[in-house]
Order: sequence, then C-alpha cells, then structure tokens
Amino acid sequence: MQKNNHALVLFSGGQDSALCLVWALKRFDHVETIGFDYGQRHHVELRVRQSFLSEIKTTLPALSKNLGEDHCVDLAGFGALADCSLTRERAIVFSENGLPDTFVPGRNLMFFTAAAALGYRRNLMHLVGGMCETDYSGYPDCRQNTLDAMQETLHLGMEADFTIHTPLMCLDKAQSWQMGQDMGGQDLIDLMIEHTHTCYLGTRDKRHDWGYGCGTCPACDLRARGWAQWQASS
Ligand code: ZN
Repeated sequence: MQKNNHALVLFSGGQDSALCLVWALKRFDHVETIGFDYGQRHHVELRVRQSFLSEIKTTLPALSKNLGEDHCVDLAGFGALADCSLTRERAIVFSENGLPDTFVPGRNLMFFTAAAALGYRRNLMHLVGGMCETDYSGYPDCRQNTLDAMQETLHLGMEADFTIHTPLMCLDKAQSWQMGQDMGGQDLIDLMIEHTHTCYLGTRDKRHDWGYGCGTCPACDLRARGWAQWQASS
C-alpha cells in the first residue's frame, strides 16, 4: 500500500491541538480530526471543538479546504479507570512525584492507539498531536521518547507505517502564539482566542485578552503567561 499524504489530528478543542490542526492543513492533502470523550468533568472542550471546526471553514476557507470528517470517540470507560481531577469533582493538587493530579495515566497512549485504529481503517497514516515537552507539567506521555516508542509500537502491533507528528514538542506557549500568527495571521489568533478552550475548571464566563477561563488554574496560568510573554516580545 502506497503511503498517502492523509492525516488524522488529535483535536481536543484546546489551543495546542487547534494549532496542530492548522499545521496539518498546511501540509497534508486531506485532514480528518478525532476527539475523545473520556468523562471529563466539563464537556466545554468538546463543545468548543465543534465551534472551532465550523468557524475555521468561514474564517480561513482556503486553509480549511482539505478539512474532512470529524470523529468523536467515547472513551468514558477509560476516564473511569484513570480517576483523576479532570474526570472527577475534586481540587487540583500535586502528588508526591510532582505531577499535578490532572495527569491522566496513559492518556496519550490510549489516544494514539484509538487514533491509529481509526487511521488504519480510513488510511490516514500521519497522526498529529499537540504534545509538548516544555509544558510545566512534565507529563511522561507527552515526551518525545515516549512518542517515538509509541510510533514503533504502532508499526509493530498494526504492521502499518504510521508517522506521529508533534509540531509543538519544543515550543513554549509564547512561541506557539507566534506560530499561530505565522500560519494564519490575526484571523487565526482571533479564532484561537474565541473558539479554543484550555481552562481545567471549564470556566467560559470570563474573557481575558488570551481567551476564556478562570484565570487561576494551572492551564489558565500557563496560557496567560505565554500570551503576556508573546505580547511583550512582538
Ligand atoms: Zn482556568
């Protein structure tokens, strides 16, 4: 089977995966998206991802001409297994190993396995994710060596030539705002502010320069600091 130039983007509705989607649209002939409902406390991200997908078609029509189907996969059973502060109502705390308990053990491994199963059926051999090593959190399943091993596992386990792409791996949040500016100008920045979601608490009633969120949770803090740093440097 000839490897085609078709991609599947892990698209959550957050800032990072939205950037990855645009990155993929600029590179691949055909791009589909996959999102996962794993019992998140707030389904805000899943709603926002739908509005981003419809808005990008009107805001950036040339860029989104290669945008194909969206797939939403129910992994609620996995969320129940993983039991952490993103899937249950309790405060975000840091555990003894230094990871915030927003860490869902093995989440990205599960996501890539599910994405590859779909990609296998639909012949989408390029898998794109917004994992980033420079984040404060240090989630082990966001690291390059984990994803290199994951790619090798998919090769072996499915006998299929998948390539995992992580365009944000080495960027900090200020650099990722700049990447958005470079790829889609102010229209894309505005789209990201209005139609992506990052806040762990699911708050969308407070609008900041950088978008919606509580402004104080670790995810809002990271997004706000990256925005401020980018504004100061540009
Ligand atoms: Zn927040």
